[in-house]
Amino acid sequence: MEIKAKKSLGQNFLQDEKILQQIANSVKTNIDDLIIEIGPGTGALTKYLKQKNSYLLCYEIDTRLKPILAKYENHKTKIIYQDFLKSNIIKDISFKYNNIYIIANIPYYITTPIIKHIINLPNLKSVTLLVQKEVAKRLSAKPNTKDYGSLTVYLNYYFNINYLFDVKNTSFNPIPKVDSAVINFTTKPKYNLINEEIFFKLINNSFKQKRKTLKNNLKDYNWNQINKILTKYNLPETVRAEQIPIEIYIEIANSLS
Ligand code: SAM
Repeated sequence: MEIKAKKSLGQNFLQDEKILQQIANSVKTNIDDLIIEIGPGTGALTKYLKQKNSYLLCYEIDTRLKPILAKYENHKTKIIYQDFLKSNIIKDISFKYNNIYIIANIPYYITTPIIKHIINLPNLKSVTLLVQKEVAKRLSAKPNTKDYGSLTVYLNYYFNINYLFDVKNTSFNPIPKVDSAVINFTTKPKYNLINEEIFFKLINNSFKQKRKTLKNNLKDYNWNQINKILTKYNLPETVRAEQIPIEIYIEIANSLS
């Protein structure tokens, strides 16, 4: 059965079997773990995920794919035809799994909403995503690089982030304009943070205007308080948001809480 790819659903099907296998094998799972795949498409990655013998839950928005995907369903594999962003994952998982893994080649246009939708999932161990290369660089950026932004710090709050490998655009059908990369997030212990809301607001405000110094972006804050912490780390008053590692943001947020 031939499916005409829908651009509006980010349908670029991965065709390179070696890469599909590499993505599936980049994470080790046990038979009683749960893997969630977002957007199985025609099942190219699903086929390799099934070989891991874990439980598998897939979310696919395009019901045209039902006849193709039907063969993957059994007592350990369930496919839900729904917009993943509207899903209630906890409700869909009837059993309490000790470890949940997300492994997916996702539609690029909703990368950030997908990450936000899964970030607080209980027992989430790791997330492996094939994303646009530029986004992968941004998500895994280190301080003092141009790609380091508020999204990087936000993600660093929850995960250790690893850029795994590049995937050329010619590995897909239809061929997208941009190259891709596989990225892995592993959940890490929570930071000692007094108030999450203050921290998230601080991050957003710090990166509000990238060209401005931190001081200029944080005009409404108690600068003396912030500067005390910067001084402790030998950071000048002219420091910019992209020069500051998450640990220092946490310390600033706690001092403001
Ligand atoms: N996994 C397949 C592969 O590797 O070839 C397909 C990947 S393709 C980039 C993205 C898939 O996500 C498509 O099958 C598309 O229909 C599906 N999709 C798009 N938006 C979605 C959403 N909001 N919820 C669930 N699936 C979605």
